[in-house]
Amino acid sequence: MRFLPHLFEKNRAWAARHTEHDPAFFERLCAIQRPDYLWIGCADSRVPANAIVGMAPGELFVHRNVGNVVHADDQNCVAVVQYAIEVLRVSHVIVCGHYRCGGIQAAFGPSMTGPIEAWISHIRKVRVQHADELSGLPDDDARWKRLCDLNVIEQVRVLSGLPIVLDAWARGQQLDIHGWIYDLHDGLLRDLEVSVNAPPK
Ligand SMILES: [Zn+2]
Repeated sequence: MRFLPHLFEKNRAWAARHTEHDPAFFERLCAIQRPDYLWIGCADSRVPANAIVGMAPGELFVHRNVGNVVHADDQNCVAVVQYAIEVLRVSHVIVCGHYRCGGIQAAFGPSMTGPIEAWISHIRKVRVQHADELSGLPDDDARWKRLCDLNVIEQVRVLSGLPIVLDAWARGQQLDIHGWIYDLHDGLLRDLEVSVNAPPK
């Protein structure tokens, strides 16, 4: 193996672990994909979706980007949402942010150049919408942490207004959207208690 042989080595060991006690593990996965959950999380390497909810391959449909942003004009994200809801028919969409998120921190910093600034601008808007609450917090760490929460809450709101989601609810499809936050300090998830399963009134 010419490039990155250690990664192929790890891959072989990983595959072997799965087939050791269950030789048909991968064959079964080939046959069907039926996850019940769509996870929309941050691309941060410290927040591996399947690992932190203890889920095996096949159990979680995943979309990740910087700062776990959902935007109606982002065809990548919206196509994932559409496929998850209309084809896989997941029952739950989980938006999961995390504390100490670099994408959220960037929304407090100076303007950057290129695509990253266009992306972060979505989070800057959330910061501006909640400027009063954020300015009342004691320090920058508290403001950073709170914007991690507020950003998740905003993405749940955006999701619950997407035509794909509204159509699913209109035809009576069971679909819950949840907002969670992951704490890097203890590896634990917290439910922000903003779950919705019907259109906003
Ligand atoms: Zn992040």
